[in-house]
Amino acid sequence: MEDVRVRFAPSPTGFPHVGNIRTALFNYLFARNRNGVFILRIEDTDRERLVNGSEKAIERALSLLEIRPDEGYGAGGDFGPYRQSERIGIYEKIAAEMIEKKTAYVCDCSEERLDKIRARLREEKKNPMYDRFCRDKNLPYEGVESLKAWGRVVRFASPFEGETSYEDFLRGKVRFGNETMDDMVLIKKDGFPTYNFANVVDDHFMKISHVLRGDEFISSTPKHVLLYRSLNWKEPLFVHLPVILGSDKKRLSKRHGSVSIEDYEKMGILPEAMFNFLSLLGWSPGNNEEILSREEIISKFSLEGLSTSPAVFDIKKLEWINSVYISKMTGEKIFSRAKVFLCEKKLVGEDTDVKYAAQVFELLKTRLPKLSDSVERAGYFFKDPWAYDDGAWKKSFSGVEEIEYYVESLKNAIAHDEPVTKDDFEALLRKTAENLGIKTSVLIHALRVSITGVSAGPGLFEICEVIGKERILKRLENALKKYKNEISQSQ
Ligand code: GLU
Repeated sequence: MEDVRVRFAPSPTGFPHVGNIRTALFNYLFARNRNGVFILRIEDTDRERLVNGSEKAIERALSLLEIRPDEGYGAGGDFGPYRQSERIGIYEKIAAEMIEKKTAYVCDCSEERLDKIRARLREEKKNPMYDRFCRDKNLPYEGVESLKAWGRVVRFASPFEGETSYEDFLRGKVRFGNETMDDMVLIKKDGFPTYNFANVVDDHFMKISHVLRGDEFISSTPKHVLLYRSLNWKEPLFVHLPVILGSDKKRLSKRHGSVSIEDYEKMGILPEAMFNFLSLLGWSPGNNEEILSREEIISKFSLEGLSTSPAVFDIKKLEWINSVYISKMTGEKIFSRAKVFLCEKKLVGEDTDVKYAAQVFELLKTRLPKLSDSVERAGYFFKDPWAYDDGAWKKSFSGVEEIEYYVESLKNAIAHDEPVTKDDFEALLRKTAENLGIKTSVLIHALRVSITGVSAGPGLFEICEVIGKERILKRLENALKKYKNEISQSQ
């Protein structure tokens, strides 16, 4: 079997989004599955579009998901440097060899001239290609410094005629007429190579066996194939991953809200859930399984499992996967990861009782789509209700006197008894309802709103067991004050 060497080759021209990281992930999974090598290469030759901080953001996103390169930028290896701006000498030399063999040439056409030709061709409804004016001029090449000094570029001498074809793993055979291909620029006036040239040179020298990348590069691949062939290099197998769409079926973009991995972490999505979710964006293990561990994904990953149809980024599915991961964790573990969200809202602090917090999350673990939901769903366990969902009780009781009466009776019963377990609380509540001659559900509702402030949540008796008698009494006292206040105001 062929040695698998794959790479993730981001350009630090913007912050990494879900699509970039999915590409990194699929390369990583393929390498891990085939005992291959996963390489990280930084493609920073478009100097004008570099964005400060984006390289760091790429590294952070990869490390968040524990997608670690075996080789490459930050990891070292025998085929470095792995940052293109440090490989200028390599491109310079290959360009010299190509010029020597007349598969490339120096061009000194001015921008004005190029603009004119393009405008004319567009007017004639033709492909706005370069007219190859300099192709036979044999302008001298003395390395990239000379290009910079003279404002010249190196162009590829693309074949005039014939047909080229190659096999794209997912899309099948691709054919194109050579006459449709431009004499593309290989090295620019600033001495840096173009993406197309550097990408091919590096993939060759880094012995890349498979290129797994986004479908936006499909149109660049014929250019790459022509370069490989003219250099007599074996091309890698091209695999263009399916596009990722937003829920409106349009290509996923910033319009759809957050598309950065870090933002999802800030929202309380676990990296392991994100890893699972991203792996299913265009790949399937061959059955309907949707919850797979990292190890399972690696062992099942194959190019055959990739799909050509678009993948849809469904945030609801991401939250569902996340909730499944959360529900499998211990309460203590969930607390340790949700703490940051609760701290931010000052709901917990360094002195919070971890044992108590663990019980809280044990109770809530099947009800948390995101860790950040802890604020709303766990908040009242740590802080006495600071607001009451008035609508919830005003709708259910004939007046504030009614709820006040029930809560007063409950308070007395709880103070008198020593309820500890959920069963104790249930028995006590049923007994009190009976004494009052009302339905248990009415009393449950009165108690819930009074001690949690809200009308929904886990089972009330479980809540009572966790919160405990003392806290409950204090909260009932607070609630009663509020009800009394309402009564006096309405009189
Ligand atoms: N530098 C390209 C990018 O920004 C890499 C394309 C490729 O993988 O060939 O995505």
